Amino acid sequence: MRIIMKFGGTSVADADRIRHVVSIIKAERARHQVVPVVSALDGVTEMLLDVADAAAKGDELAVETLLTQIRDKHLACAYALGAHDQVRPLIERLETLVHGVLALEELTPRSTDAIVAFGERLSCAMVAHTLGGVAMDGREAGIVTDDHFTEADPLMDLSMFQVREALTPLLDGNKPMVVTGFVAANQHGVTSTLGRGGSDYTATILGAALKADEIWIYSDVDGLMSADPRIVSAACLLSHLTFAEAVEMGKFGAKSMHPRALEPAAAHRVPVRMRSTFKPDHPGTLISESSGPAGPGGAGSVVRSVPMLKNLVMLTIGGASMVGRPGSAAEIFGALATQRVNVHMICQSVSEAGISLVINQNQADKARAALDGALRSRHLERTVELVGGVCVVAAVGAGMKGTPGVAAKIFSAIANAKVNVIAIAQGSSELSISIVVRAEDGPKAVAAIHDAFALSA
Ligand code: ASP
Ligand code: MG
Repeated sequence: MRIIMKFGGTSVADADRIRHVVSIIKAERARHQVVPVVSALDGVTEMLLDVADAAAKGDELAVETLLTQIRDKHLACAYALGAHDQVRPLIERLETLVHGVLALEELTPRSTDAIVAFGERLSCAMVAHTLGGVAMDGREAGIVTDDHFTEADPLMDLSMFQVREALTPLLDGNKPMVVTGFVAANQHGVTSTLGRGGSDYTATILGAALKADEIWIYSDVDGLMSADPRIVSAACLLSHLTFAEAVEMGKFGAKSMHPRALEPAAAHRVPVRMRSTFKPDHPGTLISESSGPAGPGGAGSVVRSVPMLKNLVMLTIGGASMVGRPGSAAEIFGALATQRVNVHMICQSVSEAGISLVINQNQADKARAALDGALRSRHLERTVELVGGVCVVAAVGAGMKGTPGVAAKIFSAIANAKVNVIAIAQGSSELSISIVVRAEDGPKAVAAIHDAFALSA
């Protein structure tokens, strides 16, 4: 079989874990063709973003403190692995770049990417050295993106072609390799990145391009769960999910995947397996076209998972001028899109007098300013109302499609738990029902729905 193995930051947090990851890679190499993909060492992406920020502000003290931390962390790891000759030149290049930003006190998205890419470059160099293989960054592996630095979109057809050209000879020659996650380049070869959590995306792009049999995403949890076990202690591990369900769950929960990472895998029908570095023999959760066997949370469960999304606000744009006026929604979403505000959920009643949307709390000010600006400049009488401190609880399951009574069951469960529903959305794909409730009611709502559908292990 041909397998892509992606290891997240906690899996490569220090020298011992890197050795462990390399032992997993070696064991799989004995039976499969494998392409390992690695994230930056745990916490390093944040440190790099912080140092870039400090440099842009001209904060010399913070820059030197952070650079020392980054250097020490990687050199400690590199010495333990005997990879200091690979690591030191990378650290020096990073320091030069950061000092350049500090001298100019100017940071562009493009220079942010040049800096933040060092996280994956460094971890990749260490894993590759320990494995005795070649370290390749995403560009060398063939991933090309547009110019949207810090959140670049891959040019898929070109990337697929180039990845095959770059990696097939290595695979056929049985040459060990390690690829950086997250890092790519635009068409001029300038370093770009795929957005936070982008290593998953790298893995699925490689998997689709190389027609892998499976893409394994390793982290420190066993797989995807029917609910957050901190909320529902009896939550069960889901052995199978369909792509559609996984996409629907994708943005929820701490261990979720990069939101677009499942696209290439689903489009090319390459199953994705979420599994744990600490339990290499545990099968984890398989995401494919099939819903798997029956059981709690298995096929036959109309609702398979009850994820929750926190730290949100709800914006309601109202005004009689929106009634029967085509283009109102386009104006609203256009204004938000130009500010790159990400909309989680949308509701509009048939009266058309208001559109409510749910966004991250930390984008609230940006969203409000964008809407005020866009709507006022066109003299449209609209109100923008903001409700903070909310969360979204969702019931996800492909089996809801065409099954009557699911909504009734969900809402009576929530009502019995004495939770007030603020807003509701269900797409016509019928894969999930999302409910906005007050933040403090979220866990109660999750537990009630989980119980109503008997999802406990
Ligand atoms: N290191 C990047 C991040 O933390 C990419 C990744 O881990 O997937 O966002
Ligand atoms: Mg990370």
